[in-house]
Amino acid sequence: MSTVAFIGLGNMGGPMAINLVKAGFTVKAFDLSSVALSHVTEQGAIPAPSACAAAASADVVITMLPAGKHVRGLYLGSDSEKGLLDVVGEGTLLIDCSTIDADSARTVAAKAKEKGLEFVDAPVSGGTAGAAAGTLTFICGGSDVGFSQAQGVLNAMGANLFHAGDSGAGQVAKICNNMLLSVLMVATSESIQMGIDHGLDPKVLSEIMKVSSGGNWTLNKYNPCPGVMENVPSSNDYQGGFMVDLMVKDLGLSQEAALLSNSSTPMGALARSLYVNHARKGNGARDFSSIFEQFNKKG
Ligand code: NAD
Repeated sequence: MSTVAFIGLGNMGGPMAINLVKAGFTVKAFDLSSVALSHVTEQGAIPAPSACAAAASADVVITMLPAGKHVRGLYLGSDSEKGLLDVVGEGTLLIDCSTIDADSARTVAAKAKEKGLEFVDAPVSGGTAGAAAGTLTFICGGSDVGFSQAQGVLNAMGANLFHAGDSGAGQVAKICNNMLLSVLMVATSESIQMGIDHGLDPKVLSEIMKVSSGGNWTLNKYNPCPGVMENVPSSNDYQGGFMVDLMVKDLGLSQEAALLSNSSTPMGALARSLYVNHARKGNGARDFSSIFEQFNKKG
């Protein structure tokens, strides 16, 4: 079984790295946070003193970082500091699972290619629950060779793998999905609240809409109205799940992408504005279905 350098062991990367340990991979782990690192080393990963030290002897490098600047900085380095591309061995496969702008993914992939290395952008869907359960969906961009080499290690952390296209395509597909999700969540929230305002039971209304033409994933799996569905964030004061701040980040990425391609995305732009406003009211760390509160008296 190959050696994986795992860098970025936060809410997502931590459980993903632990699943690789459980699957029998040797995992060399690094995070700037010693607390995040210790969660993973307690489960059998080997601590590395730096990202470059972890990557230097690995067959596969996986990164799970906050944003494009972190990914570019880590792989490309700077005048004063080496990047991962400077230290990895020949044939090392590079996989970035962070959600970042497609341009950063393409830039790093191009630099990797200059050195004869495969770089796959592989953002995920499935959240922290999917990361812990090993059921993530990986949405990959890169060459056929890179995608095929990545399958073994990604399968140990996920249930679905897609090859969306060339470098950056994984990132584009991911933000298209999250833009659609945000629009569905907002529209579902305002529809349920209008029903409540007219005296309808939100459970009954949700059952009707689920099997009618307005049916969608948020109604089926993630109802935003408290008390309608068990085991979803809306029935737990919107704790856990997918943070508003992360949705704001993804909607920012989708609007940047829309500008670059001159695409018309009025619903995505409106959803971003609503989520930014929701975050500014102190909801950044709550689940994204809490946007429901903007339509009822709590908002
Ligand atoms: P997080 O903030 O919990 O974890 C990021 C980790 O990266 C932190 O532990 C931080 O210390 C570490 N880090 C930052 N720069 C580093 C560096 N140069 N070297 C080493 N470690 C470094 O974030 P998260 O929730 O795990 O999200 C990670 C990525 O996954 C983001 O791009 C996010 O958009 C995406 N994502 C998150 C979710 C989710 O539900 N949390 C779902 C899908 C995708």
